[in-house]
Amino acid sequence: MIRTRIAPSPTGKDVHIGSVATALMNYAWAKKNNGKFIIRIEDTDQSRLVPGGEKKMLTTLQELGIIADESPLIGGPFAPYRQSERLDIYKKYAQELVEKGKAYYCTCTLERLTEMRAKQQAEKKVPKYDRFCLSRQDEVKKQIEEGMKYVVRLLIPETEIVFTDLIRGEVRFQSSNLDDQVLLKSDGFPTYHLGVVVDDHLMEITHVMRGEEWLPSTPKHIILYDAFGWEKPFFGHVSLLRNPDKSKLSKRKNPVWASEYIEKGIFPEALLNYLALMGWSHPEGKDIFDLDEYIRVFDIKDVQTEKLKSKVVEYIGGEYNEKVIEMTIPLVRERMKKLSEYIPLTEFLFKAPDAYEIPLEKYKDTLTKVIAKLESIDAFNSLKIGEAMVDVAKESGLKNSEFFQMLRVAITGKKISPPLNESMEILGKEECIKRIKTV
Ligand code: GLU
Repeated sequence: MIRTRIAPSPTGKDVHIGSVATALMNYAWAKKNNGKFIIRIEDTDQSRLVPGGEKKMLTTLQELGIIADESPLIGGPFAPYRQSERLDIYKKYAQELVEKGKAYYCTCTLERLTEMRAKQQAEKKVPKYDRFCLSRQDEVKKQIEEGMKYVVRLLIPETEIVFTDLIRGEVRFQSSNLDDQVLLKSDGFPTYHLGVVVDDHLMEITHVMRGEEWLPSTPKHIILYDAFGWEKPFFGHVSLLRNPDKSKLSKRKNPVWASEYIEKGIFPEALLNYLALMGWSHPEGKDIFDLDEYIRVFDIKDVQTEKLKSKVVEYIGGEYNEKVIEMTIPLVRERMKKLSEYIPLTEFLFKAPDAYEIPLEKYKDTLTKVIAKLESIDAFNSLKIGEAMVDVAKESGLKNSEFFQMLRVAITGKKISPPLNESMEILGKEECIKRIKTV
């Protein structure tokens, strides 16, 4: 049976409009397949809870017609699953991992961790837990018996994590830069990573469709599923709703809470209809349809990158590398209105620029620093590239905007391009360095 969920954290005053978009997709996928849709409140970060937020969120979802099929309270009024009511479960599973040697206890104090991080930063190392407690588990266990505060950490294995995202296709991650994640905090609450994996497993979730901001967490979750020996659900990471200028939806530019739209007089049906059309289109090209019709015609595969990829491949003919095209789709899908826009947007990924929209001579020194920094990155992914470039920007003394414009022009030739870090990841380390050297 298909089982989907949304797992919001009540850290705002209502449900975020972007969460409604993912909720809608999960809801429709369950309904379409005669499956079940559940709501789970992830309230494990007690310091971030907003009073009244959970209640408002559930009311808004109900007004929108996004209603859960299951409740932990049998016969009583509807209540969602709530992680704060399941603490014993997470503790038990954290202990199970320790017994299996996949996790370990850590009693390091905040002072020690702060000192450790400061030292790593000074040595320009990636800040991560140095496994001090791993080598002295017997001692640590004694300290715990004596009442010392502790956390449980996941022992991240050295490995490559590969999975097929329902929306993005194949995703690869190197585990080498991952920190030994805390699974159980000293207050007895699980972290997001432990809570989400244990619950998705126990609640038999088959499809996890969530916002793309959770993509960096998925490798950690996969390591956890493997450590427990559990079957993994399918994962799909949906692009975030953005402002028209592609910046992150923020309170300053647009309402972010779903009820604000309803209060402005937008009908719930119209809101759902609008959200459904973000990143998906009706097979008959319709703009107006209701929830029942959406459930009938919705298919995850239509949210897929694959579909746009085949259209692009068909349109531009066999001249370009298909694998590269596939990687470019997440970068351009929201910027492309017509297939003819694909080439101008992505040309730089297939061939080095032969002209630069701004002169780069005066930046030679900074570019040399960029090269050195790029060379030092092991896992050449957008996240690491981004972090590294922010460092160089700081050292260069240039304003961030000037630095990134210069870098963008050096890599793409143009002042406007798809997201730079992701583009650099696709180009790869060698090609980026080569391009900067030719400036
Ligand atoms: N608690 C996370 C959130 O606030 C859940 C992310 C997920 O769906 O795994 O959205």
